[in-house]
Amino acid sequence: MSGLSAGEIQANYLAVLARVQQAAERAGRDPASVTLIAVSKTHPASYVLAASAAGAQHFGENRVEEAVGKIPQVAAQSPAPEPVWHMIGHVQSRKGRDVGALFDVVHSLDSLKLARKLAEGVPEGRRLPAYIEVNVSGEASKEGFQLAGWESDAGIVQRFGEELRAIMALERVQPVGLMTMAPIVEDMEAARPIFRSLRLLRDAIQDKTGVHLPGLSMGMTDDFPIAIDEGATVVRVGRAIFGERAPRI
Ligand SMILES: *Cc1c(COP(=O)(O)O)cnc(C)c1O
Repeated sequence: MSGLSAGEIQANYLAVLARVQQAAERAGRDPASVTLIAVSKTHPASYVLAASAAGAQHFGENRVEEAVGKIPQVAAQSPAPEPVWHMIGHVQSRKGRDVGALFDVVHSLDSLKLARKLAEGVPEGRRLPAYIEVNVSGEASKEGFQLAGWESDAGIVQRFGEELRAIMALERVQPVGLMTMAPIVEDMEAARPIFRSLRLLRDAIQDKTGVHLPGLSMGMTDDFPIAIDEGATVVRVGRAIFGERAPRI
């Protein structure tokens, strides 16, 4: 597989950014209310720097082993604006401390145990913004708090609210919203009910627990316009910016 040139990456980034803004406008939303994360997993630091030169500030990685090399490589070039690094992949508890120390934001907080581990790595005086990952589709392969069926079972929302309060009580982790992954489907409209369910779940939790959760991290290359239509505040886009990923070896 051949790589992309810096110019191609820049053109892709600007095209995706324009589509993000158009989707927000179509939904009657302020384009500034949606953050685009360029998902750079599997790609080298040079790709991050290329996107950065086009104005990209937010980058997503899903493996701590990879990010631990790439983040300092990028920082060594002092790109402006300074990159904000988002951990978007599943984090094993034993790596939580490293993630808390290395990343600026986490999108895959899926247990109280992990929240405690992340907190151990966060420097004193900081609070790590974290999206709580939930599975609202019931798809077996998905990580996250298992909340399928929450619409018809008040107990599910109640129990989740209790977990959330326990996470909220941690000094160095700050829940800022919910995150989900929609099943991969041919037709992007098929993802809409998942995104809508996440937004309605967020509204229900805010109503029932008083916990403020403004963020909704949802939408990827194949479905981000639909996610924005359903209220996404953050979209995580990889392939449309950096091209297809080589399989991991
Ligand atoms: C890889 C990944 C993305 C980006 O996926 P694309 O289809 O390349 O846009 C988004 N979110 C998560 C959690 C990912 O792992």
